[in-house]
Amino acid sequence: MIKKILIANRGEISKRVIQTCRRLDIETVSIYAQDDAGLAHALESDKAICLGRGALADTYLNKEKIIEIAKEHACDAIHPGYGFLSENTEFCSMVNKAGIIFIGPSTTAIELMGDKKASKVKMEELGIPVVPGYHGDDQSESILFEKAKKIGFPVLIKATAGGGGKGMRIVRSEQDFKSALESSKREAKNAFANDKVLLEKYIETPRHIEVQLVSDGEGNHFHFFERECSIQRRYQKVIEETPSPALDNELRVKICETAVKIAQGIDYRGAGTIEFILGPAKQFYFLEMNTRLQVEHPVTEMVTGYDLVELQIKAAAGEAFNFTQKDIKQQGHSIECRIYAEDPDNEFLPTSGRIQQISVDGLTDFRLDCGYYDGSKISTNYDPMLAKLIIHADNRQEAIDKIKRALSSVVFGGSKTNRDYLRRLLSHPEFEKGNIHTHFIDQYQDDLLLKELPEAELAAVLAAGVQLGHKTQDSVWDANFSPVEKMATVNADTHKFMHLLSTQTKVEIELAGIKYTFEVLEKSIHHVHLVRNKQDYIINTFSFNTQGEKQLFCNDKEVLFKLLPKAQGKSQSLNLSEGSMQSPMPGKIFKVIAKRGQSVKKGEDILILEAMKMEHTIRAPKDGVIKDIFFQAGDQIQGGVLLCEIE
Ligand code: ADP
Ligand code: ADP
Ligand code: MG
Repeated sequence: MIKKILIANRGEISKRVIQTCRRLDIETVSIYAQDDAGLAHALESDKAICLGRGALADTYLNKEKIIEIAKEHACDAIHPGYGFLSENTEFCSMVNKAGIIFIGPSTTAIELMGDKKASKVKMEELGIPVVPGYHGDDQSESILFEKAKKIGFPVLIKATAGGGGKGMRIVRSEQDFKSALESSKREAKNAFANDKVLLEKYIETPRHIEVQLVSDGEGNHFHFFERECSIQRRYQKVIEETPSPALDNELRVKICETAVKIAQGIDYRGAGTIEFILGPAKQFYFLEMNTRLQVEHPVTEMVTGYDLVELQIKAAAGEAFNFTQKDIKQQGHSIECRIYAEDPDNEFLPTSGRIQQISVDGLTDFRLDCGYYDGSKISTNYDPMLAKLIIHADNRQEAIDKIKRALSSVVFGGSKTNRDYLRRLLSHPEFEKGNIHTHFIDQYQDDLLLKELPEAELAAVLAAGVQLGHKTQDSVWDANFSPVEKMATVNADTHKFMHLLSTQTKVEIELAGIKYTFEVLEKSIHHVHLVRNKQDYIINTFSFNTQGEKQLFCNDKEVLFKLLPKAQGKSQSLNLSEGSMQSPMPGKIFKVIAKRGQSVKKGEDILILEAMKMEHTIRAPKDGVIKDIFFQAGDQIQGGVLLCEIE
C-alpha cells in the first residue's frame, strides 16, 4: 500500500498528482525551488519542502536531496511527473535502492526506451516498423554525411538522448548538413550532456499518433486508445485530441495492438506512451516511447473515464487492475490546448512576466490544469507552458466549438500568450475538416498570423488606449481639452490619429479621415466599456513590460498597445524600432554570428540567444550594415536590452 508520495516536479503536473492523491487518501509531500514558493505545487500539498535557490541541478534535478527528503518524511513512493527526473535511470535506481517505490517502469525499461537508438534496435527485434535511417555507433561527420546521402534528403537529425524536440534538425540538402549537425550536437550536449545523434528519413506531412498504455503490477497490458498530436511548433505539441480523425477502426485496432505488443515485448509496468508517425499512405512507424505520464494525458482521461495517475500508483504498488481491455471505451471527443507564455506572432518566442489575472468567466464544463495563480511570476528557468485547457463533447465539431468558447473565457493577463493563436488554429477550415499534419503551423502560417484589426475595432482600441491614460475625474480638464495629434503602436503597426475629445462619458478620435465617437459606459483603471453604433467594445488592460506596452483585451481579442511620444519631433522609440534589435527575453548570449561592420540582409542570423532551455536565433530586422553589437558569447542579458544596431 502506498500511503505517502513525494512529488518530484513542479507546476500543473504536481498539482494534478496532488488531486488524485487527495481523492485516494494518500498524503503528499511536494518540493519547490525558492522562486516557486507561491505556486500551487508548493501550497496545495500536505507538506512542501523548499529546495532553496540555485540552478536546476540544485533544485528539481537534485537527486540525492530529493531522495533524502522522501526518506526523512517517510514517503513510500516518488512520483516524478514528466520532464525533469521522470526518465532518468540513475534517479530511478537510486530511488529503488533507497527502498522507495518509483512510480513508473523499471530502470531497465527507462534505459532502453530513453535512448532513441537502443529502442529502435529493440523494435526491429520485435518486428515493429521503424522509420528508415541510420542509428549506428560511428558518429564521425563523414560517415553521418555518407549515411544521410544514402537515406536521401530530406533527412532528420535527432539526438539519441533527445526529448522535447531538442537537438532535432531537418536537413533538406547536402550543403546544409554540416551546420545542422553542429547545431544539433550543440543543443543536445547542452540539454542532455550527450551529443550522439541518429538519422532518419524525414517523412513529409506526417501525422503524430500516439497510444496510451498502462500495464498493471501483475504483467497485464492495456491500451487506452490513441491521441493525435499533429499540431506542433518547434516539434512540441500545441493541440492534442482523441479520437484521431485520421484513424478508421481497422487502423485504430492495428496501431493500438502494435503498442500493446511493445509493452509485452519489453515487460513494461505503469503508464507509457508509444509515439507513432503516420505517413500519408497510412503506413505507421514507431517513433519513441515515453516511459512516463504525458502532458496530454487528460484527453485520454476524458474519453475513457479512467484516472491515469491512479492507475500509475496502483501499478507501482504491484496491484492488478480490476478491469479488462474490453471495458475501456472511447466515448465522445476530447481536445486539449496548451496555453504557453509565448508570442506566436514572433516566432513563438517565450515571454516572461507576472500573471496579473487568470479569468475563467462564466465557464463551467471544462478542465484547466494550471499550476499558476493570479500574481504568479513566470520564470524563464522553466518550460513556458502556463496551463492546459481540456474539454469533452459528443463529437469533434462540438468539441472544437466548445474549446473555442472556453478559450475566450480563459485569459492570462500580464504576459503575452498563444491563446488567440490557438483560437485561430481551431478555426482554420482545414483543422475543422481534420486535415492536419505536423507541419500544419508552417503550411498555414499566413492564415494563422495575426491579422490587422478591422477599422472600427482599431479605433476603439486607440480610443480606449488614450482614455485609459486620462484622469477624466478632473472636470476642469474636460472643458479645456483641445485636439491633439497622437501616435500609437497596435500590435506591430504604428498609427497616427487625432485625439479629439475625452470626457467622462465620451471619447472621440479621428483615424484615416474618419471621426469615431464612442460613448463611455464604464471606466476604471484597468477597464473601459465603449459603445458606438450599438456595438460594444469591452476593453481590459494590463500593464505589460518595461517598454511601456499595455496588453489590452478588446472584446477578448488580445492587442498590444503603446502610446508613442509626440508625433512631432523625432521620437526615441521610433528610431529604436527600426534598425535596433532588442532582446525579446532575458537569457544568455550563446553565439554572436555577425560582425561589426558587416552588411546583412533582412532575416539574416545575427546572434543566438539561449533562454528557456532553447536556442533562439535573433535575425536582422532590415538590410544594412552592423554598426554595433553590444554583447558577446556568454553574457547574461535582461529582456528588452539593446543587442545590436544596424544602419
Ligand atoms: P514529448 O517529450 O514527446 O514532447 P510531452 O509533450 O509530454 O512529450 O512533453 C514533455 C516535455 O515537457 C519535457 O520534455 C520537457 O521539455 C517539458 N517539461 C518538463 N517538466 C515540465 C514541467 N514541470 N512543466 C512543464 N513542462 C515541463
Ligand atoms: P522527442 O523525443 O523530441 O519528442 P520524437 O522522436 O518523438 O522526439 O519526435 C518529435 C516530433 O518530430 C514528432 O512528433 C514529429 O512531428 C517529428 N518527427 C520525428 N521524426 C520524424 C520523421 N522521421 N519524419 C518527420 N517528422 C518526424
Ligand atoms: Mg516525442
